[in-house]
Amino acid sequence: MEKVYGLIGFPVEHSLSPLMHNDAFVRLGIPARYHLFSVHPKQVSEAIAGVRALGIAGVNVTIPHKMAVIPFLDDIDDHARRIGAVNTIVNDNGRLVGYNTDGPGYVKALEEEMDVSLDGKRILVIGAGGGARGIYFSLLSTAAKRIDMTNRTVEKAEQLVREGEDGRSAYFSLAEAETRLDEYDIMINTTSVGMHPRVEAQPLSLERLQPGTIVSDIIYNPLETKWLKEAKARGARVQNGVGMLVYQGALAFEKWTGQWPDVNRMKQLVIEALRR
Ligand code: NAP
Repeated sequence: MEKVYGLIGFPVEHSLSPLMHNDAFVRLGIPARYHLFSVHPKQVSEAIAGVRALGIAGVNVTIPHKMAVIPFLDDIDDHARRIGAVNTIVNDNGRLVGYNTDGPGYVKALEEEMDVSLDGKRILVIGAGGGARGIYFSLLSTAAKRIDMTNRTVEKAEQLVREGEDGRSAYFSLAEAETRLDEYDIMINTTSVGMHPRVEAQPLSLERLQPGTIVSDIIYNPLETKWLKEAKARGARVQNGVGMLVYQGALAFEKWTGQWPDVNRMKQLVIEALRR
């Protein structure tokens, strides 16, 4: 029987996940289909009960339900528990287990797309919202030398560093971080600054950027933010947010099916759809 997978969120209509997953199911000959489920915030418990009752094999979870689903699951893995958010649920014969593949997906995309090992690297994360949280805790599980945080509301960066309880991290105001750019090998924008429609905005001045630094932006709309354009012009190696989107999906796909999909094909589909 064809297995059913899907995405629960509110709204979900613009998600590119069905495109990636359904193509991968077909190419790998897996009899399954990925659907979008728009779930009102008041109906999260019913939606999870529905996953159980209908035998839905797995779901992704997106905004605003990533925290709300947790009380209704049978278990969550250590990383998802630490960050307090679930983006992937596996239905293991009626036992619902929550994971979070956003941060691990980001780190895998960074390593593979930029062909870089994070061992010994000095990294600056800009932003301290939901996206930053998963990325920061995933970076803590690498052998990076420093993983510093900066954010407009500096208290939120401080809070993340405290939670991380890891001697490799410090936090700075944006203004102070701007004066320290030459200390980093990798810089990651996790804020929404520069995202469509406010495409002229930039999260941090790049005046002190060293050529050869890796500059990564998790925004994928536009595909190249103004910040990435400027970083490139200053000699940086740049990465956009498509990799994170695709690799978080690929890691979820692997948890559901045990198979690793063709990420380059997924990327190509996503980029084509975003260009449209
Ligand atoms: P969020 O939880 O709302 O956090 C937003 C972050 O942006 C906070 O650090 C916030 O700073 C900062 N920010 C917002 N407006 C700002 C401004 N005008 N000036 C300076 N800082 C500002 O959002 P999120 O879920 O982390 O998402 C952030 C971005 O990541 C979005 O563009 C989203 O599309 C993208 N994203 C991409 C992927 C992917 O797969 N590629 C996955 C997740 C998210 P304060 O704390 O000071 O408010």
